[in-house]
Amino acid sequence: MTRIYLSPPEVGDAERAMLLAAFDSNWIAPVGPDIDAFEAELAGRIGLQHAVAVSSGTAGLHLALLLLGVGAGDEVLVPSFTFVATASAVCYLGATPVLVDCSPANWTIDADLVAAELERRARQGRLPAAVVTVDLYGACADYDPLLAACRAYGVPLVEDAAEALGATYRGRAAGSFGAAGILSFNGNKIITTSGGGMLVSASAELADRARYLATQARDPAPHYQHSVVGFNYRLSNLLAALGRAQLGGLDHHIARRRLIQQRYREAFSDLPGIAFMPVPAYGEPNWWLTCITIDPDAFGADRERVRLALEEADIEARPAWKPLHLQPVFTDAPVVGGSACAAVFDRGLCLPTGSALGPADQARVADVVRATAR
Ligand SMILES: *Cc1c(COP(=O)(O)O)cnc(C)c1O
Repeated sequence: MTRIYLSPPEVGDAERAMLLAAFDSNWIAPVGPDIDAFEAELAGRIGLQHAVAVSSGTAGLHLALLLLGVGAGDEVLVPSFTFVATASAVCYLGATPVLVDCSPANWTIDADLVAAELERRARQGRLPAAVVTVDLYGACADYDPLLAACRAYGVPLVEDAAEALGATYRGRAAGSFGAAGILSFNGNKIITTSGGGMLVSASAELADRARYLATQARDPAPHYQHSVVGFNYRLSNLLAALGRAQLGGLDHHIARRRLIQQRYREAFSDLPGIAFMPVPAYGEPNWWLTCITIDPDAFGADRERVRLALEEADIEARPAWKPLHLQPVFTDAPVVGGSACAAVFDRGLCLPTGSALGPADQARVADVVRATAR
């Protein structure tokens, strides 16, 4: 029996062919036709005009926040319930993340808390420089109230859609809601370039500036000339070719992960104490990861016992994100609420959802979970 991973990449003949075609074309560089095509195809998928391929989602977040004016001494509202990179990018700019609790209804940043915090700060004359939302585990945040609150106070919204390519909110694509959005193609995301990301925006000016800064801020001149400090943040042409093939398979990956969640729901339907991450009525997730919560009293074992039993059976499962306000690195960061996401962390477990996970392997996972119940 082989190890079952949480969310391994699924690549095949299309990926091999496109990667080798790029290799054979000798565009082994951070420029090339596959980058331009990957940007155009991804922008088209999201319904935006502009996309800039970058070396990671984190790099994209860094550029997005920088270009929206976040700087030293600023504060930025960020969900506490997310991967650390969402807040790291704020710190790169010398700004402070203000960690906002999630809504128990959808596990994404609580729109009521954001609105109340913006109102409170407006009265004090210290509005944050930006609000970052995260489309968690492939499900969008609640954008109608979030955008209304941000517009009311003139605060730009950045959408961290790293986990949510292909998801929708009221029919609109994840990634398209902020002044800028970012996607990630890290190895465990719904599509991967082994490492990479994309910054997307409706603004040509923002996208052009991002492309410029991501390419060492090289001015147009025959010699190397620079007027500002830039970054080496571009994606390579080889990886863009891989990304194009993966993007072509996105709908397949979504359908597979959706089916995997359906199977988990069926497998656990008679087990007391297990609940799934809520699926809000306002949109369709991309089903990136299936995350369950385990009520130890009703189920008879806690989340950690289940995780260890899975590990014992050579199956990788992960606790839900440990909230950033409970992370040692952010002990001094301001917090707004925090008990809702702490409760999900206590009970939340992400189960294997790789798109190539077959029924027999998935039954192995479900059987181990079942065996830990009392
Ligand atoms: C993966 C992820 C990132 C970072 O993306 P990288 O491409 O790994 O830099 C940022 N935010 C969230 C919510 C993520 O899940």
